[in-house]
Amino acid sequence: MALIVQKYGGTSVANTGRIKNVAARVANYYSKGHKVVVVVSAMSGVTDGLIKLAKEIMPLPNEREMDVLLATGEQTAIALTAIALHSIDIPAVSLTGAQAGIVTDGVHTKAKIRNITPKRIHELLTQGKVVIVAGFQGQTIEGQVTTLGRGGSDLTAIALAAALKAELCQIYTDVDGVYTADPRIVPGAIKLEEISYDEMLELASSGAKVMQSRSVEFAKKFGVVFEVRSSLNDNPGTIVKEETKNMEDVVVRGVSLDKNQAKVTLVRVPDKPGIAARVFKALGDAAVNVDMIVQNISHETGAPATDLSFTVDKPDLLKAQKVIDALKPEIGFGKVIATDNIAKLSIVGVGMKSHTGVAGKLFDTLARQGVNIEMISTSEIKISVVIDLAKAELAMKAVHAAFIG
Ligand code: ASP
Ligand code: MG
Repeated sequence: MALIVQKYGGTSVANTGRIKNVAARVANYYSKGHKVVVVVSAMSGVTDGLIKLAKEIMPLPNEREMDVLLATGEQTAIALTAIALHSIDIPAVSLTGAQAGIVTDGVHTKAKIRNITPKRIHELLTQGKVVIVAGFQGQTIEGQVTTLGRGGSDLTAIALAAALKAELCQIYTDVDGVYTADPRIVPGAIKLEEISYDEMLELASSGAKVMQSRSVEFAKKFGVVFEVRSSLNDNPGTIVKEETKNMEDVVVRGVSLDKNQAKVTLVRVPDKPGIAARVFKALGDAAVNVDMIVQNISHETGAPATDLSFTVDKPDLLKAQKVIDALKPEIGFGKVIATDNIAKLSIVGVGMKSHTGVAGKLFDTLARQGVNIEMISTSEIKISVVIDLAKAELAMKAVHAAFIG
């Protein structure tokens, strides 16, 4: 008999039929004698719909009120899930985040969990109840409703699994697990049996978003092993856990593609101390998220100058250009080239730490496809390249074939 935390995402509770399907899955574990805590997200589209309603009234609604509003999405889903369990004679009780003892800081719309006191959950489990907890929400010590940032139900589940010392934490979604690449682009992509927290985080930051990154960081910090699997079939999913020695046998765990980036190049930037600081401080102040940065030292004689390139999220490109244009008189660079016809291709794997020649093989594979590399960045377990958007999918298929098969 185990204590199991199961999280069902928005698509898994998208309609009453799907909610009944969730109830049947929960009942299956419950009837084997397990204690089951279920975390649910809002039905798919509901959170977006609520945000849209508020923005119809005013563009920047008050964040406290947004939290009160958005928390209703999950509150609907927990009650319906409890009702679906009752309909098949399983005793179930729904709890809001606050009722479940989830205490957060007061940063509305992106609150952090301070602590969890799961006293009520334990009492209900002891009484033989299935406990349904609203994901994505909590309460400040002063009793204000808060939410944990988009995708925050994952965090609720991981944090509850840690607080309850659950034997099993299952994240149910609409895909079978974590794949070596997006199967819609690479038909030969393979579902991974296991992946390390760090690989999962690097894949997420390079475009393969299966789970909210903060929740994976939380799981890593507290050592919560979890499984990502589908609520629509019984296939085993992918286990996410701390890296083990044999994980390094595989050089590349996955390939990901981020088509949501744009590139800005400042030509002939004066090569002297303080310029990069000035540029990136200004971008940061404008809340533009910068990902890759490439700059070379200048070797010319005369007034030294260098080209400076960086990438930003595609929707931020115009904002970034405005910030840069405003700096031009002060810094005195040449022209600015901005393009959103790029993609970032990344290979990720803890095996890179102990294998050589990985970068060479990647670049060679791209060269054979006639793909030009515009920028390169590396970490201990990742190599990313910026390439032409038009060739991105072709490149991804070739790289997957070269490293994974
Ligand atoms: N309903 C919230 C959202 O759409 C939280 C979640 O789905 O995890 O972001
Ligand atoms: Mg979601």
